[in-house]
Amino acid sequence: MTRREILKNMYKVVVAVGASSFLSFDDLLAMDRGEITKPNLVWLHGTSCSGCSTSFLNIEGVSVVDILTEYTNVIFHPDISLATGHQVTDLLERANEYKDSIFILEGSIPIAMPHACMMGDKPMTYWVEKLAKNASVCIAAGTCASFGGITDMDGMITGPKTLADFISYKGINKPVINLPNCPMKPEQLLYVLFYYLKTKSLPELDKEKRPIRFFSKTIHERCTRHDYFTRKKFAKKIGDEGCLYYLGCQGIVTKNDCPINGHNDNTNICIKAGHPCIGCADKYFPRKIMLHTYDDKRPNERFKIIS
Ligand code: SF4
Ligand code: SF4
Repeated sequence: MTRREILKNMYKVVVAVGASSFLSFDDLLAMDRGEITKPNLVWLHGTSCSGCSTSFLNIEGVSVVDILTEYTNVIFHPDISLATGHQVTDLLERANEYKDSIFILEGSIPIAMPHACMMGDKPMTYWVEKLAKNASVCIAAGTCASFGGITDMDGMITGPKTLADFISYKGINKPVINLPNCPMKPEQLLYVLFYYLKTKSLPELDKEKRPIRFFSKTIHERCTRHDYFTRKKFAKKIGDEGCLYYLGCQGIVTKNDCPINGHNDNTNICIKAGHPCIGCADKYFPRKIMLHTYDDKRPNERFKIIS
C-alpha cells in the first residue's frame, strides 16, 4: 500500500465521523509532510480495564501506530511504548519539558485509596496532577475517566474521581474533554486529535464537556426501533421484534452517536444486535445493577417520556 493510499484510508475514517467540516485531504497531506509541529502525547491508565486502549488500538481501516507516530510525538503509552520501569517514570518526571502536550487518561483516579493505582513508587494522583499541569489539553478516554463508570459502581471503596473533577479539585485550570463510552470509540478520539492538530483548540462541548458533534442526541431519537416505540410495539423478551424499552433500554436517556457510528467500523450496536442499550456512555452508568436496568429506580425518574 502506498503512503497516499494509507492517508486516504485515514481520511475516510475521520470523515465518516464528521472531520471534513474542518479537515481537508490536503491538510492531512500537509501534516504528513511535517508542515505542522507535532504535539507531544502522554497516555496513562488510571483504575481501568484497559478496554479503551484496546478499542483504540484495534480501530478498523487505519493503523494507530501510524497515526500516533506520524502526527504526534508519543512520550508514553502503556501498551505500545517499549520503555519500562525507571525509563517510564524518568520520562514522566520530565513532563514540564514537553511543550504543546496532549494528556490522555483512561480510567479514574482513586483518591481514597491512592495505592490502588501506582506507577513506580508514586500513586496515580501524583502523575495525573503533574501531567495535567503541563498539558495543553486533557482528554478523558472512556466512561470511567469521564464519569466514573464501572470503577465508581456501588460498593467501590477507592473513591474514584473523574479527570475533570480531579483537575478542578487540584485547582488546575486546563481544558478537559470527555469521551464517554465503555469502551471509548476510537473514531471519536481521532476526530478530537485531528481537530486539535488543525485548530489547536477543542471542538464545541456540552455542559458535560462532551463534543456536541457526538453527544447532542439520544440513541432513542435516531434508533432503528423508534418506529416500534411510536406504534407501542414492545419486545417482551430478548430476541422479540419491537422496541426494547420494557427490557430496560437506556437509549431514551443516553446521548451518543451509536445509530450512525456503531462499533467496529459501524458493524453493529447493542440495539441492532437485539440487546437494550445499557447506557454505557451515560453519566449514571453502570447504575446500581449494570445490566438489569428495569429494576433500577434512579434512571426511571428520567424516563418521563413514556410515563
Ligand atoms: S427505547 Fe430503546 S429500543 Fe426503544 S426506540 Fe428507544 S432507544 Fe430504541
Ligand atoms: S447503544 Fe448504548 S450501550 Fe450500546 S454502545 Fe451505544 S451507548 Fe453504549
